[in-house]
Amino acid sequence: MIVVFSGVVAGIEGFLIEVEVDVRPGLPGFEIVGLPSKTVRESRERVRSALRNSGFKFPAQKVIVNLAPAHLPKDGAAFDLPIALGILAHLGHLSLKALRQRIFAGELSLSGTLKRIDGVLSLADLADERGFQLILPQANAREAALSGRKNLLITPSLSHLVHFLAGKTPAPQVPACPLPRPKPSACGPVIKGQAHAKRALEIAAHGRHHILLVGPPGVGKTLLATQARRLLPPLKREEMLMLAKIYEAAGLLTADSPPPVERPLRAPHHSVSQAGLIGSKNGRPGEITLAHLGILLLDEFPEFALNTLQALREPLDNKVVHLARAELSLTYPADFWLIATANPCPCGYFGSSTRLCTCSSRDLGRYRRKLRGPLLDRIELFCCLAPLSAEELQDRPQPWPTGSVQGRERSRSVPRAPGRAGLRFLQQAQKRLGLSARGFDSTLRIASTIAELDGADEVDEPHVAEALQYRWEAHYHLFA
Ligand SMILES: [Zn+2]
Repeated sequence: MIVVFSGVVAGIEGFLIEVEVDVRPGLPGFEIVGLPSKTVRESRERVRSALRNSGFKFPAQKVIVNLAPAHLPKDGAAFDLPIALGILAHLGHLSLKALRQRIFAGELSLSGTLKRIDGVLSLADLADERGFQLILPQANAREAALSGRKNLLITPSLSHLVHFLAGKTPAPQVPACPLPRPKPSACGPVIKGQAHAKRALEIAAHGRHHILLVGPPGVGKTLLATQARRLLPPLKREEMLMLAKIYEAAGLLTADSPPPVERPLRAPHHSVSQAGLIGSKNGRPGEITLAHLGILLLDEFPEFALNTLQALREPLDNKVVHLARAELSLTYPADFWLIATANPCPCGYFGSSTRLCTCSSRDLGRYRRKLRGPLLDRIELFCCLAPLSAEELQDRPQPWPTGSVQGRERSRSVPRAPGRAGLRFLQQAQKRLGLSARGFDSTLRIASTIAELDGADEVDEPHVAEALQYRWEAHYHLFA
């Protein structure tokens, strides 16, 4: 029996698969066992034709292929190549040594050329961890280059690979692929006024505090939220690779669509299902994973279904999401910055000085319950936006974010400690506003971010005072 190594990807994790090929005397036949999907079973026809069209004979014996371990579900056509190699090794066309310490993955065409497969970045990680070399179709050259791994080989066809493994021909070079760098423009678009909301977003971005923007229609909540992406620092190389793996798992990284080079901004509609938001049972990552390292924008926040919002609590706390499947539980990263927007009431004009709110007290009560929702304690900053004042309308329009606050990296990860005055001020505010323990901690975290932005070594009274303005307890009239 010949063993050839291959791999399977579940979510963004690669697993080693042993492809056991046994050829024994008996009626000619070809069987694949070990939880293969339909695509894997169809491998038989592809392997048979590819071997013949590459100038090899298919054994007129009983061929049995077992994919181990049996409990992992196996999908995709990437086992074509290791199966064909196992048969060739049995026929003596390959030495066993040539198969050692190598992972083979590739779909065979009937002519014997190799076609592009999915999950290459995760397989490259697997090979790296195990100290194996990974052999891939040349059609995957872009992902091979993207992974930046040295332990990778690409090959155009089965016959080419056999020649290479016999030492008769060199393998094609993996092309160099410098990751594309987004070129941030110097400034954002012109957004008049809303200095308070801009400051709140700058603080929230720097400390990755989740934020809710509340205001009447047309004050620019969504525009500010989408522009807030510019406040985040550019992606690092490892972050780009992680996003590429996620987008590959979601089927969004195809031959024509390049990997993300900017922090993601995902803005699902409020009708999104729970599976669409957090991920589905069949292993497809949800919006929160596609927003990993970027922004999840929930526009019209109170319109989202309660159970959908409820499902966000665990990922918000743990920055990962677990999707339980029948055979295997998948874990996806979900470290996103949540920006939510909402109207202050159903008609949108509660508290407005220019228009009358037409909502009944019953409508208001129901709306506020939704606004409080299941995530109120997970959202650290609140900011109320009002229509521009006459003065603001006169202002010279300024681009936002300005160059000085764009792409700011955190100066250090350790939070600033509260000074004595800062702490006393916060304790007084806790009594006055009835802050919960969680609210107290959140306020301190925001104040710490503000202190960091100020270049202060400890959290002082003004930092706490500013932080308190962004607490929902200070905007109680909107929630009670
Ligand atoms: Zn209203």
